Amino acid sequence: MDVEKTITRKVGEAIGRFRMIRDGDRVAVGVSGGKDSLTLLEALLLLQKRAPIGFSVCAFTIEQGKFLAPIQPVGAFLRERGVDWTYVEDTPSLNLLMEQPDHGCDLCSRFRRRAVYDIARKLGANVIAFGHTADDFCESLLRNAMFTGRISALPAITWSSKREFRLIRPLVYVTEDLTRAFAHSLGAPVIPCGCSQKTGTVRRSLREMLADLEKEHPFIKENLLSAMGKIDTARLLDTRYLDLDDSSEESGFFPDQELVALR
Ligand code: SF4
Repeated sequence: MDVEKTITRKVGEAIGRFRMIRDGDRVAVGVSGGKDSLTLLEALLLLQKRAPIGFSVCAFTIEQGKFLAPIQPVGAFLRERGVDWTYVEDTPSLNLLMEQPDHGCDLCSRFRRRAVYDIARKLGANVIAFGHTADDFCESLLRNAMFTGRISALPAITWSSKREFRLIRPLVYVTEDLTRAFAHSLGAPVIPCGCSQKTGTVRRSLREMLADLEKEHPFIKENLLSAMGKIDTARLLDTRYLDLDDSSEESGFFPDQELVALR
């Protein structure tokens, strides 16, 4: 398999389907030092060369004190490739780490969000791209359904409050086996995040469960992604989407299939 071709096709598909990038956009990519954000950046740069529209790409990294090694080699690698890379040490996040070393993801992401918007503003970007992958979408769907009682995953496209920034996740269809292979083929330095919260027990269990299922059913993530795009509201329990007033013969009483499900 040509990994680069597969990734650019899947990223292009996501960008097209969700209208993630438009003519004249300036896209800021959050580079975390991991394989996913590096893949995202490289894919956008490749697509930029052949896209029928004009858009610019820049990259930034926010230091929140969680990298296991200095991030500068990643910056040097990017700059050698002509990428406009900005590095910001986020003082409030670093203070938070000192004052509350055991803070959770909620607080950490709130601090990061503020820092991301600040830097995107300074970079003149109107779009911010994040490196969440197909694996993240699938885990998020299962986690929300099983632990929060909601059918939802991550937004492939959304807006910051007041619609100042379009927030996009172009790796929605790209699995992590691909980002791993691609980052390796680029020879990019990968700086891991040493955060102890990163692989919480729920996340680890879901990853293991999916990996286990994939041994017998290799297309399980593709099917989950497809399911997120084909919601059959008539076969779920949210009354906002059900036709409760329909008194027609067919749907007024228990059709056969529902009877089977009730047994
Ligand atoms: S895993 Fe760590 S770095 Fe990531 S949001 Fe949670 S606390 Fe922050």
